[in-house]
Amino acid sequence: MRGKIPKEAADVMRALAAEQHAAYLVGGCVRDLLLGREPKDWDVATDATPEEVQRIFSRRSDATSEVGTPTGSVGGRTIYENQFGTVGVKTDSDDPRLKVVEVTTFRLEGKYTDKRHPDEVKFAKTIEEDLSRRDFTINAIAMTQDSKLVDPFRGQDDLRQNIIRTVGDPAARFNEDALRLLRAVRLAAELSDFSTRGGPASGWQIEGATRDAVKEHAGLLEMIAKERIRDEFVKMVETPHAAQGVLLLEELGLLRYVLPELREGIGVGQDKHHIYAVFEHSVRALDYAAKKNYSLEIRLASLLHDAGKPRTKAGESPNSTFYNHEMVGAKMAARALDRLRFPSGVIERTVHLVRWHMFYYNVGEVSAAGVRRFLARVGPENVDDLIKVREADRIGSGVPKAVPYKLRHLLFMIEKVKHDPISPKMLKVNGEDVMKILGIPPGPRVGQALDILLEEVLDDPKKNTEENLGRRIRELGKLSEKELGKAREKARGKKEEFEQGIEAEMKRKHYVK
Ligand code: ATP
Ligand code: MG
Repeated sequence: MRGKIPKEAADVMRALAAEQHAAYLVGGCVRDLLLGREPKDWDVATDATPEEVQRIFSRRSDATSEVGTPTGSVGGRTIYENQFGTVGVKTDSDDPRLKVVEVTTFRLEGKYTDKRHPDEVKFAKTIEEDLSRRDFTINAIAMTQDSKLVDPFRGQDDLRQNIIRTVGDPAARFNEDALRLLRAVRLAAELSDFSTRGGPASGWQIEGATRDAVKEHAGLLEMIAKERIRDEFVKMVETPHAAQGVLLLEELGLLRYVLPELREGIGVGQDKHHIYAVFEHSVRALDYAAKKNYSLEIRLASLLHDAGKPRTKAGESPNSTFYNHEMVGAKMAARALDRLRFPSGVIERTVHLVRWHMFYYNVGEVSAAGVRRFLARVGPENVDDLIKVREADRIGSGVPKAVPYKLRHLLFMIEKVKHDPISPKMLKVNGEDVMKILGIPPGPRVGQALDILLEEVLDDPKKNTEENLGRRIRELGKLSEKELGKAREKARGKKEEFEQGIEAEMKRKHYVK
């Protein structure tokens, strides 16, 4: 064994033992201890009922306040009990992973008629029974206070050989809870950094019968709550082996229930500047982002950045074009992430990166006004992330061109224009001024006028004076509401230089007139 049982967890086990109860570490923490991986949380299984557990630890809490406990660190108050008989015991650890040790009564799971939740939870008498309801053999090992193992399903053998195998009949286990289909893939990806066979990252395998059963029962994922799917998917995407995870999902027929959008890119050839089909390119882009340990949003955007390509493809590869694929892709990404119930902030940031990943920059071709407009559209705070997605895109294309100097030049230009006004807030006039000068109440006209002024100032920052803008406001005030709306559309709607450039470049490359 490589890891050590931390004092807080040992104290919880000792307190249960002092009352003649059985207590074992179980699940992920035992697996991780044996692998030499840092456990994320500590779970204790016991034959004490939830009521007894609560009683034992609340008594200790009285003791703490009056005379102190002999062990000290289990100041122990119990915090909750849910329907599955889990009681969280608070410790006074500073380590967030140890602040609460979860104590769960041995249980068996009843029938799952909805493939999600057991119809009833039955308490069990022995640790062996408790281990038998767990998903995979490597997650079904128990450890006593003095590090002895209870391992009825030979989980240690599978740990050693880096194999994921269900406890018992795989078909039956997936039928009980279809989330296990995804957990198998997530664990394979997640554990691949902790391989005990041939050194790190030699990869985990899903055992043959388990694998066949995953394929056969993939469709059961349809019955699983999207939030649970999302949680497993996120855990997988956040590992360094995220890309292999996505490939495995596809191989096992699960991807269509997680991110079917990606499958549209399978076998969709691209232009001369890509050697990979859209799907493979997307997975490679994710691989780069994951290896670089970039944020969740950058990983998701790298994976989804070309989602719109299959639907916008025109012409045969290698001369095909994909006009507006970033816009179509942004919509598809928004819908996909929303379906998976991602938090709105994650959706917004990811979609924004997909939407703008196509910015064009060629030294000497894009003016300072173009760079300001780029900043205004993209937001200065998103530039770094966008460049990372771009990097992932480039490396993932398989034919990385020597363009980083262009990006460096873009950053240099950004530095140069960085103090120029690029947002409505930076204009020398505001909404109040517009209303005062024109004598109009709040309404859409105010925003439209400000948008028009900003476009003019983006073209030429010298126009950002109270005097000039005041004059322009009076001129705009002469326009009817309809005319003003049109003028705003015109100012905002014209293709940006940094987007126009892409089209020009595409046309050059593909000899389209
Ligand atoms: P991690 O905490 O690193 O995400 P874990 O293996 O600890 O991984 P948890 O979700 O914390 O996963 O679950 C703890 C334990 O509970 C697992 O190790 C496993 O024994 C059991 N378990 C979790 N989910 C299931 C499930 N869907 N079916 C059967 N057993 C499960
Ligand atoms: Mg865990």
